[in-house]
Amino acid sequence: MIFKYLKITLLAAVLCFCGQSIYAQDLLVRQAPIDRKLKAIDSISILRQLKAEMAEYPAYGLYPEWSNAYAHRYTNVTLPDSFKIDLADFCMPTTHTKITSKYGPRRRRMHYGIDVKVYVGDTIRSAFAGKVRVVKNQGRRVGYGKYIIIRHDNGLETVYGHLSKQLVHENQYVEAGEVIGLGGNTGRSSGSHLHFETRFLGQAINPAFMFDFEKQDIVADSYTFYKKAKRKNGVAVAGVDYYKVRKGDSLSRISKRTGVSVKTLCKLNGISTKTTLRVGQVLKCS
Ligand SMILES: [Zn+2]
Repeated sequence: MIFKYLKITLLAAVLCFCGQSIYAQDLLVRQAPIDRKLKAIDSISILRQLKAEMAEYPAYGLYPEWSNAYAHRYTNVTLPDSFKIDLADFCMPTTHTKITSKYGPRRRRMHYGIDVKVYVGDTIRSAFAGKVRVVKNQGRRVGYGKYIIIRHDNGLETVYGHLSKQLVHENQYVEAGEVIGLGGNTGRSSGSHLHFETRFLGQAINPAFMFDFEKQDIVADSYTFYKKAKRKNGVAVAGVDYYKVRKGDSLSRISKRTGVSVKTLCKLNGISTKTTLRVGQVLKCS
């Protein structure tokens, strides 16, 4: 009898303890996301304020001015011999993967960006955190149509053209991945698509050296801009110092992506065209 009584008290004690701890845990769990959210909002707003106070605009040390008046300007800009552009905190501007037109000379004109197939109304996001510099409309069937230019802390400016709707205003701070507009077919465009440019101090760089739309990823964690970059048909090639081999990569594919010839890749890395590449292997590109 005593034994039975003890058993019941023990059970009650255990139940009581469990009940309490479950209750306490429940409270903690319920409280945690609110705390985290508050902290996130807090740090974002503090960061924004700090950014605004510390500098008038992103990449303050690189650019001579902040202006909403023009799309690109090359004059009165001093280009550094080289500059490492950090790409780590990126977001793909669109989830679409089909490139409909590459960067480079096209029908006797220079195509300074890449075209990604998107549909009217598709979400377009900022590639990095930054401050919106230009929100303009070049008009019907002219140029970029409705476009947005954002300047980022890493020194890049990104351009988003042919939009159907612009959802940000000039001088607004945006986070990487923040929705900035909707895909469209405005300006000099046949068929809805996103015209995406990456520029450094006004100089256009092939976005394919940084963004891989097919794989929805960046090519490498950083891209180095060289003032005296190797040029082909007036277009700068290469700039990636290192390339990390991915699934399905071949030397010719890496060559296409980095702008470095297969021969140079072999020479720099002491390999031959017959060498099997390992996923994750890092290749020197310059
Ligand atoms: Zn284009």
